[in-house]
Amino acid sequence: MKVVINNINVSIEKDQTLELKKEIIKRGIKEENIEKIEYSKRSIDSRKKTDIKFVYNIEVTLKNDVDISSLTNVNPFKENEEVNYKAKDGIERVAIIGAGPAGLFAALRLCELGIKPIVYERGEKVDDRDKTIDEFIKFSMLNPNSNIQFGEGGAGTYSDGKLNTRVKSGYMNKIFLELVANGAQEQILWDYKPHVGTDVLKIVVKN
Ligand SMILES: Cc1cc2nc3c(=O)[nH]c(=O)nc-3n(C[C@H](O)[C@H](O)[C@H](O)COP(=O)(O)OP(=O)(O)OC[C@H]3O[C@@H](n4cnc5c(N)ncnc54)[C@H](O)[C@@H]3O)c2cc1C
Repeated sequence: MKVVINNINVSIEKDQTLELKKEIIKRGIKEENIEKIEYSKRSIDSRKKTDIKFVYNIEVTLKNDVDISSLTNVNPFKENEEVNYKAKDGIERVAIIGAGPAGLFAALRLCELGIKPIVYERGEKVDDRDKTIDEFIKFSMLNPNSNIQFGEGGAGTYSDGKLNTRVKSGYMNKIFLELVANGAQEQILWDYKPHVGTDVLKIVVKN
């Protein structure tokens, strides 16, 4: 059984796992019944400069089912709704122009649906693109087809990798999981302001 507990404040100075356990027990769950604690969101409350806190929403897997109706702020866990767009009937081949974030994820989804897309990208692969960009920075020699904007991974490769889209999409969770599966830091799954960074992005794009 999995339950959800939101808005737990823990001072950044303290042992986070220990304090989270204490909070769970305070809400009426026995320590020996806790199997796993996972973060679903983590933000920072720095309004009081002398007492900065992490604010957690957590998911707790319990070894045995418990009646949570009488427990304070303990709620049942709900699975994320899966989106599952299908391709139109009769489509066999798709051409995708550009291997930026949009093109790469479109290609991935099409592959999952059993359709083999061809991705056309005007720029170079990440490693070659890196050298071309170095040359641009050192000698101002611009390659119009392969540069900070164009090439494998698109503008995304040399972005800062702050993962904010300001849109709500059922694919959001899948995209975060794919990024982690391909080398991004696991904490982007729960950080309130998830951030990958250009160095890691280059690896993720290649993978
Ligand atoms: C410096 C910088 C920092 C950024 N930082 C962030 C950030 O921190 N967080 C964030 O969310 N966003 C950031 N962005 C924005 C983000 O990078 C873009 O929103 C994202 O890359 C858009 O993805 P896309 O796939 O739609 O397009 P693009 O990434 O632009 O990809 C398009 C691809 O198509 C290719 N292409 C174009 N024309 C052709 C053609 N005729 N034939 C073949 N290929 C072609 C290009 O070479 C390119 O690879 C940043 C952007 C820049 C430039």
